[in-house]
Amino acid sequence: MKDTLLKPLTNEDLEIFKKEFEDFLPYEIIDSHVHLWERDIFVKTITKERLDQNPALDSEIVDGFRIEDFKKFVKEAFPGKKYEGIFFGLPVKEADLDICNKYVSDACKKSDSYGLFNPTADLKEIPSGFFKDRFIGFKPYPDLVDYKAPEDFSKLNIDVSMFDFISRTVFEFCQEYGLILLIHIPRAGRLNDRRNIEEIKTMGKKYPNIKIILAHAGRSYCYSDINESIKYLKEIKNLYVDTAMINSFSVNKVLLEELGPDRLLYGSDLPIALLKGKNIDINNRHYFVTATPKTWSLSSSKMDLNSFTYFIYEIIRALKISVRSLNLGKRDVENIFYGNCNNMIKEIKGNF
Ligand SMILES: [Zn+2]
Repeated sequence: MKDTLLKPLTNEDLEIFKKEFEDFLPYEIIDSHVHLWERDIFVKTITKERLDQNPALDSEIVDGFRIEDFKKFVKEAFPGKKYEGIFFGLPVKEADLDICNKYVSDACKKSDSYGLFNPTADLKEIPSGFFKDRFIGFKPYPDLVDYKAPEDFSKLNIDVSMFDFISRTVFEFCQEYGLILLIHIPRAGRLNDRRNIEEIKTMGKKYPNIKIILAHAGRSYCYSDINESIKYLKEIKNLYVDTAMINSFSVNKVLLEELGPDRLLYGSDLPIALLKGKNIDINNRHYFVTATPKTWSLSSSKMDLNSFTYFIYEIIRALKISVRSLNLGKRDVENIFYGNCNNMIKEIKGNF
């Protein structure tokens, strides 16, 4: 991790924490969406196009985010809180997943935490020692499917089925032990693509014990991504969403109103959330806005954008506003930031 990203918090940032979050946040927090890796996971060259389009491969981030970096940042950004994480690697096609998973497992053992295993799209055998290595679920990723779409370098919009990148072995093992399956949904239409909805419904029915979590609430950074589709998701009883990189009050409000606070898990997407900026929607499309100009964001080299704060603070800010607007209580806030995730961990631990 570049020192530029882990430099001490500014007084303005500390002020935000004190004024807006110190009393609002519970003492214990579990961040359900944290990537950890070291530079040595990359065994294939990352092309310039890929570097330019994928925020996780940004030059400030790509060198890695170690457990020590995580601890250092959260200690400073959340003073006085006990901030822990559910960890997993960076499952991109240039990475060696064995090295990724080994690093996550070691980091979890070191920090008394739990992690999610990054499986290949065709994983046929669950590694021995899965639970001993502190895994409580999986984080599959559409990027790992061998799919020929050279024009779409980020591959996050690729037109594949979730059943193409999550193997039957993974589904059945998750079902047997009631594990977490954190899914980054494919396809450009996101939750507005009925095929995605049908697949999630099929999964929910066929594997009722799996704790299906949609990463980034199904990549719903815009209100228009979720306001129609939520009615289909609602009925899937074993479905949850995480808030990773969601900076939108209206998205959170829909999620809280329709799914309720017990199916929302606070997640950040560190280390991307360590950048300064905000996700916005303009005319129903999502854009990253960053303080430092990036090839994948809106920014300005001419304007002074030093007053920006971390994406992670914008995530919490958007949650706070939606919680307040719905008059939710302290108990609900505790569940979103800690209880829901902690209950999952407890339950899973009881199953193995
Ligand atoms: Zn992520």
